[in-house]
Amino acid sequence: MDKIVSAKRAGKGAEPARPTREQAEEAVRTLIRWAGDDPRREGLLATPGRVVRAYEEWFSGYNDHPHDYLKRTFEETGGYDEVVVLRDIRFESHCEHHMAPIIGRVHIGYLPRNRVVGISKLARLVEVYSRRLQIQEKMTAEIAACLEDVLKPHGVAVVAEATHQCMTTRGVHKTGVSMVTSRMLGVFRDHAETRQEFLAAIGLRGAIHSANGGG
Ligand SMILES: [Zn+2]
Repeated sequence: MDKIVSAKRAGKGAEPARPTREQAEEAVRTLIRWAGDDPRREGLLATPGRVVRAYEEWFSGYNDHPHDYLKRTFEETGGYDEVVVLRDIRFESHCEHHMAPIIGRVHIGYLPRNRVVGISKLARLVEVYSRRLQIQEKMTAEIAACLEDVLKPHGVAVVAEATHQCMTTRGVHKTGVSMVTSRMLGVFRDHAETRQEFLAAIGLRGAIHSANGGG
């Protein structure tokens, strides 16, 4: 366990000490027994295999390094110097506390200096960071930091809105509650007008006051 964690933390280059597929499937059988059922029951025989394959999809973000591909894919702005906003990028993630789904939307804004990036690349950026075990605050900050690093824009704004199934289906059982997190960098942090322009574009004007997260 410690090995896996430290290898993951070491990031790119370090090969995490992954368990085998068979070990992962055995872990699922253990959880099925923990839930109170019998993994040898016919309806459950293929379940460990399916769960492990689902994990490959839900957590595929560990295999990608968005800095690298964004660096290869930016384009010149052609003189465009207004705020770019992409809103309602749906994401599906899992909270790192309960491994329960977090489902929501991310809105991204940036004021380009001389580089822009295609819409599909921004959506892909969200996908890479969301397909990991996450907390929403960290994911929001990671998306903003990556864009800032690669595009070196005048500013970046990222807002995420999501519902956390660890909160709606267990524990306090609060349905209809969504969490909003934001990260404002550069002009979006320093100029209220630019920030308001972004918040108005995503339909959140006035909703976020000082909750800008630190840079
Ligand atoms: Zn949770």
